[in-house]
Amino acid sequence: MQVLGRLFNCINALLGLNTLKSLLRFWGFMLVLLPCITLMLIFTYYELQNTKRESAENLEQMITMQQDTIDKWFHERAAVIRDMANWPVLKAETEDIESIDARIRQFLQSQDEFSAVIYVNKAGVTVAAPFATPGIDISDRPYYQKAAQGQEYISDVLTARGAADGQPVVVFSAPVFDEHRQFKGLMLGAVKLATIDKIMKQFQFGHTGETYLINQQGLMITESRFIGQLVKNGVAKDNTRLSFPINGETLQVVSQGKTGTAAYTNYRGQEVIGAYRQLINRDWIIIGEVEKGEILESFYRQISIMLICFLVLMLATLPLTMVLEKRLATPIRRLIAGADAMRAGDYSYRVEQSLIDVSVSEIKTLCNVFNYMAENIRTKTETLNDANQALTVARDAALAASVAKSQFLANMSHEIRTPLNAILGMGELLGETPLTPEQEKYVRVSRSAGENLLNLINDILDLSKIELGHPTLNKNEFDLFIAVEETCQIILLQAQQKGIALHWHIKPETPSRLIGDPVRLQQVLINLLANAVKFTEAGEVTLEVSQRSQPEAGFVELLFVVRDTGIGIPQDKLGPIFERFTQVDASDTRKYGGTGLGLAIAKRLVELMEGRIWVESMLGVGSTFYFTVIVGQGNETTEAAHLSCTGFIACQQPTPEAIRQEPLNILLVEDSADNQLLIEAYLKKTPYKLDIADNGQIAVEKFMARQYDLVFMDMQMPVLDGYQATRTIRNWEQEQGRTRTPIIALTAYALQEDGIKTRDSGCDAHLTKPIKKRVLLDAIAHFARRNLM
Ligand code: ADP
Repeated sequence: MQVLGRLFNCINALLGLNTLKSLLRFWGFMLVLLPCITLMLIFTYYELQNTKRESAENLEQMITMQQDTIDKWFHERAAVIRDMANWPVLKAETEDIESIDARIRQFLQSQDEFSAVIYVNKAGVTVAAPFATPGIDISDRPYYQKAAQGQEYISDVLTARGAADGQPVVVFSAPVFDEHRQFKGLMLGAVKLATIDKIMKQFQFGHTGETYLINQQGLMITESRFIGQLVKNGVAKDNTRLSFPINGETLQVVSQGKTGTAAYTNYRGQEVIGAYRQLINRDWIIIGEVEKGEILESFYRQISIMLICFLVLMLATLPLTMVLEKRLATPIRRLIAGADAMRAGDYSYRVEQSLIDVSVSEIKTLCNVFNYMAENIRTKTETLNDANQALTVARDAALAASVAKSQFLANMSHEIRTPLNAILGMGELLGETPLTPEQEKYVRVSRSAGENLLNLINDILDLSKIELGHPTLNKNEFDLFIAVEETCQIILLQAQQKGIALHWHIKPETPSRLIGDPVRLQQVLINLLANAVKFTEAGEVTLEVSQRSQPEAGFVELLFVVRDTGIGIPQDKLGPIFERFTQVDASDTRKYGGTGLGLAIAKRLVELMEGRIWVESMLGVGSTFYFTVIVGQGNETTEAAHLSCTGFIACQQPTPEAIRQEPLNILLVEDSADNQLLIEAYLKKTPYKLDIADNGQIAVEKFMARQYDLVFMDMQMPVLDGYQATRTIRNWEQEQGRTRTPIIALTAYALQEDGIKTRDSGCDAHLTKPIKKRVLLDAIAHFARRNLM
């Protein structure tokens, strides 16, 4: 089976049959051709054998019949002579030669077979021999000797000595007895061989079939049917039967046995099939033969008819293979075209029903299934498309709603912060006026509640932003060192206020150029650092950054550790603090403020950055927060990655005396009259000169007209907002070649990302409303000092 398969593949490869169409055409043709050829060969072989056998049998039958006829002929002629030997005229005591002669003459005249009849006397001398020479002694001849023994005799073919025409004859003899049964002589009759020719010619058949007799010497006794032709060709002389030898091959064949059939080349040099048989009691052989060509003529005719049929069949195969192809290959081609159309997204393609109807059952099923599938896919695709469209509409609506919600929250936050700024600021101012202890308490509670409210608003806004927006991380290249330093700068003011030292340390081998979302990373850090500062009364807060592992090429896992010497967290609260609205001790809220949302936000963000956050803590000793993130590795441009980086701000709480109060020119850009009033009040007892611009446009104009040492810039304002105003000022400074004037964003936008946005626009620091007097003064002192140095 395997060999057959390999042969099939080889033939296909050799003939380049690689399409179903060519395969079907070729093999369809071959399936007809091969059996036909095989059948034809078998038929031809058997038919040939059969024809030869039949011919040989026919020939055998014929020569058997002929033999009988010849035997009969011999018997009849012998009987004639025997009758003569019994003539009374011969039996008489005294021989009446004349009477005998007359009688013989009479006999000879009455027929023409016998060429001579002679009476031979006892002494073997011919006595009555009409038309022959009498008185010849023939006592030496076998027929005499046989007769003397009382036996009849038939000679071989003889050329009659006395015969006038020299025709070959067969001599018959019979003894003559007297009345006493004594040998008296014999009668001889020479029969012309031509009479046997007549018999032989009866058995000529077809146009090449003949029978003839040959004697022991291989000489042809009877006349060849083709004597004329032979004479004409110079092969034989007229009437040369006895000197015409049968060729060696024929002789060899026929002398092999008494009877038989054989194929051989005959005396005329023709291929023949012949049958031969020795005559009974004679040495002669009778041969019947016919040329092979004649025998095979009918066979060839049959074969020709068969070949024609075969060719017709072959031609008929062509349309047959075409029909087969239509039934098999065409639907398959249509199926392929259909599959192609489907791949191209066209599901409307179907195999035509007319084609399916004429296909074979398997392909019919295949086509029907294909059509069913295509229809199914088409309807399902349509349904899907409809659903997708509906989903897109719904998604767009949801997105729009979400944007609106975020916008609403941002606006709300801003709107709440602005009055809160005034409330808290005024509360602070109120606290500086002489108050009764009871009033002082009320003011403190009111301020604490205000601050809590502010934190709550910040955190809720942040969390809802994360949860609503399903935040995705940016993938920007950033510098870890800068990000850490910036973060620490943000915490700096709070640390300074509490007199806590802030260390940061980036371990050697930590890559500095990273790819990730620095804003989100800073947000987590700010949360942890702010908490650390918030829950630490004395001591220090440290931030340590190191590379923990390299999860895969191009990525690093960083470990951030924020350690403080604060109040610590009890063991049973270490887990829950990462959940929303969870605080260790509710009383903390009053003392430290906070919403219990910061760590929950941090956890979400860390997980978003494929990291983990956890805490170790000891009550009264301090807490250590750990978190990991996975970030991409950027292109290191300096050797910085291999160096460690340490920062340290040792902060003593600055006293008002410590601040060198210069008579600085300060520009406050603020559209809210309440806030303008608040800042004016904060700076009332300072040497600072405050100028106010109601919006960004006025601020830019003022800035260009006058020299300021410091600018407080609100961000959301009519006409020109703080971002644009800052950018315009920065550009103008650059054009004029002026040194940068510190611009501090003073805004109700409290989110970390807002801080980064303001810094991007050109601000040096970001203070959020409501602002405390101390923070405002510290900031002025800080930037003024920096500016003066
Ligand atoms: P918030 O600080 O606004 O209350 P957080 O989610 O940031 O909310 O913190 C939850 C609680 O975890 C805090 O209220 C506090 O009890 C505890 N906590 C957080 N950080 C520290 C820290 N560094 N030291 C002691 N307690 C902490």
